[in-house]
Amino acid sequence: MLVGVLALQGAFAAHQRALAECGVLTRQVRVSADLDGIDALVMPGGESTTMSHLLTTSGLFDPLAERIRDGLAVFGTCAGMILLAREVLDGRPDQRSLAAIDITVRRNGYGRQVDSFEADITIDSLAAPFHAVFIRAPKVERIGPAVQVIAAHDDVPVFAREGRVFVASFHPELTPDPRLHSLFLQEV
Ligand code: GLN
Repeated sequence: MLVGVLALQGAFAAHQRALAECGVLTRQVRVSADLDGIDALVMPGGESTTMSHLLTTSGLFDPLAERIRDGLAVFGTCAGMILLAREVLDGRPDQRSLAAIDITVRRNGYGRQVDSFEADITIDSLAAPFHAVFIRAPKVERIGPAVQVIAAHDDVPVFAREGRVFVASFHPELTPDPRLHSLFLQEV
């Protein structure tokens, strides 16, 4: 299995480490040719406005949107979640999203004074809780009927999927625990 990691900006190297621990090959994705032959794609945290801009200038935005429409498995974390959401609140006016999962997210929705926090979240299919690191995280404010919430924190969804599109508002790549990556890979 070959898993692409969007490497325009942000925490892509940590995702590559987590995926390597799961025993899969990874490829950094920067231009549309890098999408050829990948079985899945991880979109990291970072800055969604910058990533949106780089997706456009690199010419990757439209080919990526097409691959996702054709059923590519994708896992977006934090800024990656924002880029996959159908609707983004408090985004920059020129910020684009791939509208691949029917959720509304608010950028930096957990507030500036609590920019970062950590919490143990429960995921039904995992025996022990997962330690989740939230950094200027997006907050999910609406989920569509086809979206399945896999984990919530204080009644707010933080890990969800719609078909083969997975999103987390936290950073699973920043803890030495590859269980969420392997959970995603089971669906690829
Ligand atoms: N607040 C960032 C954004 O809007 C996301 C933060 C993150 O990915 N850690 O893109």
